[in-house]
Amino acid sequence: MSVERTLCIIKPNAVEDCNIGKIITRYEEEALKIAATRFAKLSKEKAEGFYIEHKSRPFFGSLIAFMTSGPVLIMVLEGENAVEKNREIMGATNPAEAAENTLRKLYAKSLEANAVHGSDSLTSAEREISYFFEKNEIISTH
Ligand code: ADP
Ligand code: MG
Repeated sequence: MSVERTLCIIKPNAVEDCNIGKIITRYEEEALKIAATRFAKLSKEKAEGFYIEHKSRPFFGSLIAFMTSGPVLIMVLEGENAVEKNREIMGATNPAEAAENTLRKLYAKSLEANAVHGSDSLTSAEREISYFFEKNEIISTH
């Protein structure tokens, strides 16, 4: 295992429901540390670029409307095996299929409003981190 960085977004439903603190606490308990963060309301263009891989999917328009419906907390998380570890902590995309005590099981409202985003590979993590943060905004925790 090695120290990795992954991109996490606390999505509008979890911000609206005041679950930011509980989600960050969970990451800290699991040894994923914040290396960069920004609170933002995404523009349509920024959200579309972020989810570009899903552009042809039927849910794309609705997903962009949801992701721009309210503020999000964007974070770079750093730690051992961070990419896979975050996917485990988040749980399955569909909260109905998410394991007990995962963030999506605990805080999702629906398949779309599923509380958190996490990069799905190291390659995605690199693209997603550089999509939101300049190198000098990321502060190594190790
Ligand atoms: P993940 O976020 O687990 O990597 P995907 O990359 O497949 O999942 O999808 C991106 C996001 O799009 C999901 O987190 C969810 O918010 C939304 N989404 C995925 N599939 C659907 C669907 N069938 N209907 C509505 N929204 C969806
Ligand atoms: Mg994904």
